[in-house]
Amino acid sequence: MMAKISKKNNLTKNVREIQLSMDYPLEFKAGQFLMFKVPTPTGFVERAYSIASPPTQNQSLLFCYKALDGGVSTQFLDQAPHGTQIELRGPLGQFTIDDSLEPLILVATGTGMAPYRSMLLEYLDERRGQREIHLIFGVRSIQDIFWRDFLDGLAVAHKNFSYEITLSAPDESWSGLCGRVTDHLLPEIKRGIKTFYLCGSSAMVKDVRAKLINVGVAPTNIHFEIFS
Ligand SMILES: Cc1cc2nc3c(=O)[nH]c(=O)nc-3n(C[C@H](O)[C@H](O)[C@H](O)COP(=O)(O)OP(=O)(O)OC[C@H]3O[C@@H](n4cnc5c(N)ncnc54)[C@H](O)[C@@H]3O)c2cc1C
Repeated sequence: MMAKISKKNNLTKNVREIQLSMDYPLEFKAGQFLMFKVPTPTGFVERAYSIASPPTQNQSLLFCYKALDGGVSTQFLDQAPHGTQIELRGPLGQFTIDDSLEPLILVATGTGMAPYRSMLLEYLDERRGQREIHLIFGVRSIQDIFWRDFLDGLAVAHKNFSYEITLSAPDESWSGLCGRVTDHLLPEIKRGIKTFYLCGSSAMVKDVRAKLINVGVAPTNIHFEIFS
């Protein structure tokens, strides 16, 4: 399947949004990802990117990626002008929200927010889902926060959605949560939350998953997507 880059936008110093216009509508579930076929001098390599837009927008898909120094896909996406054709494979993945009514906690670090953007739009705006959802979004500093207006809009529109941002390296102007996402999960467990979604680096997912299992959360109730 082929798509064309239709929009590029810097969300922070090193997180970029990229919109792809599809050759034909793509059916997918909120939370799934696509494999991008990235051209290199020695052939194509594949990199996975989570779809950040909801399934109803099936002709124009939004993604976000973290620009990594020396990264093969990073260099390609950073340099590709509007109109560049990209070959895609998918949709793939099982990181989706089911129809249960259990409250849930979504934990994201950095671009781990991407699948949640799609899930939240689909679940809250389209499915009109009623389960309580609380998102904990961890980044390094204020400058690394993105999609805050989007999250504020959802929180205003849906009483069953709330979110907090935690900064691992805050400056003195920050009055919100500080520290790693892991530091803020115990209160959620104490108030009886049993279902967790984790998305981001392998270090974060491994750490949080181990801590949740350690305090009695059932491994089958911990859904996760590892980005690296
Ligand atoms: C299911 C899934 C979904 C994903 N969704 C997303 C998403 O939505 N957004 C997102 O940002 N990522 C996502 N990822 C991660 C993504 O697939 C890539 O792994 C990531 O973008 C890095 O790709 P890259 O080709 O730019 O880096 P790579 O070339 O794979 O490099 C990886 C690391 O090696 C370092 N490196 C590579 N070459 C050099 C060099 N020459 N010198 C020094 N260092 C070097 C890079 O700095 C980087 O840290 C997802 C991964 C999975 C598995």
